[in-house]
Amino acid sequence: MNAMRFVSTRNPESVTGFVAALERGLAPDGGLYVPSEWPVLMPRLLQAEAASQRAGADPARPARLSATALASLASSVIAPFAAGSALASDLPAVAAEAFSFAAPLTPLDPLEPDGAASLLELFHGPTAAFKDFGARFLAASLAHLRRARRTAPGSHGSRTLTIVVATSGDTGGAVASAFHERPGIEVVVLYPKGLVSPTQERQLTCWGGNVRSFAVRGTFDDCQRLAKEALLDPQLRERSDLSSANSINLGRLLPQVVYYAAASLAVRERHGAPASFVIPSGNLGNALACIWARKLGLPIAAIVLAHNANRTVPDFLATGDWRPRPSVATLASAMDVGNPSNMERLRALYPDLAELRGAVRAETVDDAQIRAAIQAAFRRFGRILCPHTATALEVYERLPREQRNGRPWVLVATAHAAKFRETIEPLIGQRIPVPDSLAQLLARPVSVTEIAPQLATLRSALWTC
Ligand SMILES: *Cc1c(COP(=O)(O)O)cnc(C)c1O
Repeated sequence: MNAMRFVSTRNPESVTGFVAALERGLAPDGGLYVPSEWPVLMPRLLQAEAASQRAGADPARPARLSATALASLASSVIAPFAAGSALASDLPAVAAEAFSFAAPLTPLDPLEPDGAASLLELFHGPTAAFKDFGARFLAASLAHLRRARRTAPGSHGSRTLTIVVATSGDTGGAVASAFHERPGIEVVVLYPKGLVSPTQERQLTCWGGNVRSFAVRGTFDDCQRLAKEALLDPQLRERSDLSSANSINLGRLLPQVVYYAAASLAVRERHGAPASFVIPSGNLGNALACIWARKLGLPIAAIVLAHNANRTVPDFLATGDWRPRPSVATLASAMDVGNPSNMERLRALYPDLAELRGAVRAETVDDAQIRAAIQAAFRRFGRILCPHTATALEVYERLPREQRNGRPWVLVATAHAAKFRETIEPLIGQRIPVPDSLAQLLARPVSVTEIAPQLATLRSALWTC
């Protein structure tokens, strides 16, 4: 396979390889990396499957969305992107490290196991949100690359690598967990003070060691701007190597393609039709992964984005007018984004508005509708949804009946409800059991530094430690 090349969304002449794209996060011109061309994946995946069935691997084949199956699919899906890079031969090991938990596809209504709507449960990882997949893949990739470089002949060891991550709630915890205690790597977490749930805040601040957490006096957009400025700052670049772990990093996006691949193949097997997805969206990283999966040829039909009251994307699709704005705080706080950075990748893929409108739809859901959807899911199906997942249910319920019944739909469940107990328990009048891994995190001591949303402040906080 030829080495794949990646270009900046802002300049098709700015070309780089897979490893550099992963390590830099952001292109030098401030753009985001996208593949310069698209491999066609489906025929290769089907060939690999046919071969493994001929080899008699079938009877014990793990369910499509088990950890083992995801890890193996991840190797095939990501291989064309990593081809010819220093990571290519380590890819199976990296995938096995990253995909260490399942992504079950369960019926929305447990009493209708063959019903057309399912939940894709992406919250069974260490920090109970879908971001664990991307964060763990990126961390494992960077760790493998550093190890390979340290042991290379003539190597003089390596500088510390600082991962800067802005978070609206879940990213920071997932990234901190994935990089915690990895030698030679430190993590800087920036989150908006007072705008994340108490459970999320503990997950952002409970690590210590190589993880430093900053409560920024500002919004998520301030955190995101600060992270971008830090990554491009010559003074900080002198101190250590810098990289982002935000959803703008290719190393987070590509592993997310994998669960859409697995889910769409499972749906086609079960229903004989391509899957349509409703995706709770903020910065559009998760949705973009689904769009990329479809672009790669996987059996995916409609893709509908469920946004909260931050309606920059729904408004843009309706009016054609791109108007980023300050984010507003909602119950689905991990989606409180007023200027979604991955829009740049989406528009690079569909520069024409009419084409973009054909590729995705977007809806907005307000807090009252989120509350109502949480209550409806519990009353009708006995299911406890997090506020983000509830936006997907609301958007699904709004679909015209013939669309809802005519095809298999997958609602993407992005976080475990226990992370948002404070919101949900009063609505359903019941306590939410906390998964063990989450309970362990919540018991750790916390430490955090409060800062103003300025690069100079962050710089000095980092220099003085
Ligand atoms: C991050 C997050 C989202 C939004 O995902 P994007 O990739 O930013 O669009 C939705 N739900 C939860 C629980 C999240 O943590």
